[in-house]
Amino acid sequence: MHESNTFADGVTDLFAFEACGIEMGEGIARRWGQAHHEVGGFIEGAGRSKFAAIPTLMAWATPAGPVTKSAYEGLIDRLLQAIESAGPLDAVLLALHGAMVAEGYPDADGNTLYRVRHAIGPDIPLVATLDYHANVSMLMVSASDALIAYRTYPHIDQRSRGMDAARIAAMAARKECRLKQALAKPPLLVPILSQETSREPMRSIMAEAVEISYESPVLDASVLAGFPYADVQEAGPACVVVTAGDSSVAQRCVEQLGDRFWTHRHALTTTPPSAEEAVRRALEVEKTPALLIDVGDNVGGGSAADSTVIFHEWIRQGGSKGIVVLFDPHAVRACLAAGVGEQIVLSAGGRVDRHAPPLPVSGRVRLVHDGRYVEDEPRHGGLRTNDQGLTAVVELADENLVVLTTRRQPPFSLGQLTSLGLRPENARAVVVKAAIAYKAAYEPLGGTIIEVDSPGLTAANPARFHYDRLRRPILPLDPEAMVEARWR
Ligand SMILES: [Zn+2]
Repeated sequence: MHESNTFADGVTDLFAFEACGIEMGEGIARRWGQAHHEVGGFIEGAGRSKFAAIPTLMAWATPAGPVTKSAYEGLIDRLLQAIESAGPLDAVLLALHGAMVAEGYPDADGNTLYRVRHAIGPDIPLVATLDYHANVSMLMVSASDALIAYRTYPHIDQRSRGMDAARIAAMAARKECRLKQALAKPPLLVPILSQETSREPMRSIMAEAVEISYESPVLDASVLAGFPYADVQEAGPACVVVTAGDSSVAQRCVEQLGDRFWTHRHALTTTPPSAEEAVRRALEVEKTPALLIDVGDNVGGGSAADSTVIFHEWIRQGGSKGIVVLFDPHAVRACLAAGVGEQIVLSAGGRVDRHAPPLPVSGRVRLVHDGRYVEDEPRHGGLRTNDQGLTAVVELADENLVVLTTRRQPPFSLGQLTSLGLRPENARAVVVKAAIAYKAAYEPLGGTIIEVDSPGLTAANPARFHYDRLRRPILPLDPEAMVEARWR
């Protein structure tokens, strides 16, 4: 599983997968069996359908630049070997992200499905789960029997979608039906903030997909918002409908859902304020903490995790009791060398993301921590055990706090802060490096959300990026009349 941001510098190599964990065989059940993740859903769902699940390979890495050719090919070889040595199979379940780009494989997930299909032959059901941010290709659809995507963003239904996939694979394995699916690709990019599934119009589009999934012979319907930070042909939303043996119903349903995206094309845009304006608003909110959402440095979307744009602005406008988390291994080591309780003067962040200079950090090292924490609630990403690497907390003037981490860690769990003894509910403002995914963890704080049009590799507006490989014409990059003529 990987979400690859092709605008990011650098690549995702095998070390990046190893750092997040590569498991084989029974190790998979130990780590993922209880997690709010589709792999846990596969295992439970297979059991409920009276099939034995044979775990093969699980590998994932934090979103970042494309996967190296050698890491991708090495992992696929291991997967194929594990499937082969599993013996005769009734069905295969794959948990893919769906927006993986590898060197030489712009449609890496399509290639993965194609390779697995080739290995198992045409008659064994192949069912894959996908992240709601998958960029679905025709190859992914033709190589698989059913694609089942998350229906929530933040992703909190991963386990249940894994169970849905297992149930559908079991039906096909018992020859109760033959799976037929269809794909529609509306010609637009959905900006990340508009992708939230509790926000209109995505809420209605998703509700329609769920309704369709109850109409026989439909077995499942997915709408995916796609991942706009990948310059690949298939970037953007998709509609997938799986039926029991009826291709024409599948086709009619995906066209209906695709048209819904087109109808709502203008509502599918959001325009957040600049950092300066956002901080001004944050200083005035009554319901604290103000959550300053750093959309441009959305760690879960492959961004740097070290942008200082918003916190510079917070300090400049005289903010107090603010918290920011910055990825900066050098600064963590400096804090460790200085020692807990000691004063330190350094600069942090702003090394990978250069939209603002490093942040001057002058204050007391409050704490150094191993960076591990456990999240038991359903949270985006479905991770239970977390590791942000060796972490330091530094107290600046005006009770502002800087958390420095050794690993790029998305803010999907408040454990990132509470494990350090911090009380985000008492802060005046927290910079949250995410777009939507943080909400499952942060909304219970009851503060005021302020989304920021900050610059970076995951900036809110797709028109800020330069695409070479994306299929054209497409909105919002091309004139609407030109796009419409092609779509109709
Ligand atoms: Zn996602």
